[in-house]
Amino acid sequence: MLDTRPLLLDTDFPSLNRGALTTLQVNLGYLCNLSCTHCHVNAGPKRTELMDRDNVELVLQVLQRHRLQVLDLTGGAPEMNPHFRYLVEEAVKLGVEVIDRCNLTILQEPGYEDLAEFLARHKVTVVASLPCYSEQNVNEQRGKGVFGDSIDALIKLNSLGYGIDPQLPLNLVYNPNGAFLPPPQMQLENDYKQQLREQYGIEFNSLFTITNMPISRFGGMLLAKGKYHDYMELLKGSYSDSNLETVMCHSLISVDWQGNLYDCDFNQMLELPLRDTQQIIGSDRQRHLRQLLETDFQGNPIVIGEHCYGCTAGQGSSCGGALED
Ligand code: SF4
Ligand code: SF4
Repeated sequence: MLDTRPLLLDTDFPSLNRGALTTLQVNLGYLCNLSCTHCHVNAGPKRTELMDRDNVELVLQVLQRHRLQVLDLTGGAPEMNPHFRYLVEEAVKLGVEVIDRCNLTILQEPGYEDLAEFLARHKVTVVASLPCYSEQNVNEQRGKGVFGDSIDALIKLNSLGYGIDPQLPLNLVYNPNGAFLPPPQMQLENDYKQQLREQYGIEFNSLFTITNMPISRFGGMLLAKGKYHDYMELLKGSYSDSNLETVMCHSLISVDWQGNLYDCDFNQMLELPLRDTQQIIGSDRQRHLRQLLETDFQGNPIVIGEHCYGCTAGQGSSCGGALED
């Protein structure tokens, strides 16, 4: 696969510094039941990297030490990590809001039949990717049969109260099926709500629109099709200064399956570790969850690159969707 990393390191993106830490976003591993074309972690059924129990314990200690508000679990399919349920149960006991970034189809896989009930019992917020309400677009991006399985999973979540009971939030994620920016979030949310309600009787809370980052599998596709420079021009041409204040790296630290720290999930994929004030960008000094027991790195410079324009383009983009209304 072609790699955009060397093209991203030299940037004129404005400098950023870390603010107060509220959220730990933990990648529990790259194992996934799907292998989507846009996946920025190149996850799939053959990946073997999974966070071990020692690092899971450290995650819990960090949550407690800094009284963090949110534990945001990603993967791969985070639910496929054997310690997923333990981590959720213990984090909930600490009063932390747990977010499960769920690909929906995992709820339909053999061996995971009781997963939806588990999530509901622990009041886990479900953020579920559904790149479109059209069957053809979803299957094209995520694989044959994925749309039908996703719809069945959403019906199951609704039957447990998700998207209906205020204590059981169900949010969907849209990302473009190509080298273009997402449409306005509110307009698309209204379309999704209408289509999913009319066709399948499905309810959900919010739609998050997320810009495709020019990295990993999507970045490789851009290079292979000769579209990388056009896409970067699109991101840069749509830069909005107002999104700079609210980019997610201000308040979030991303943790990889080995417990290493990054300013965000994208930097994790680009192997750009979180650094301290003295450190040179690109040096390989790696910060770990253990250091996070001592400091929250507030005020430290954030490691930036050309890909950061993906967070500030148009309405802005983060794990919680657009940054502007
Ligand atoms: S479901 Fe998510 S983690 Fe899995 S391959 Fe698709 S995008 Fe990647
Ligand atoms: S990609 Fe986005 S979240 Fe990550 S460091 Fe750049 S601006 Fe921050």
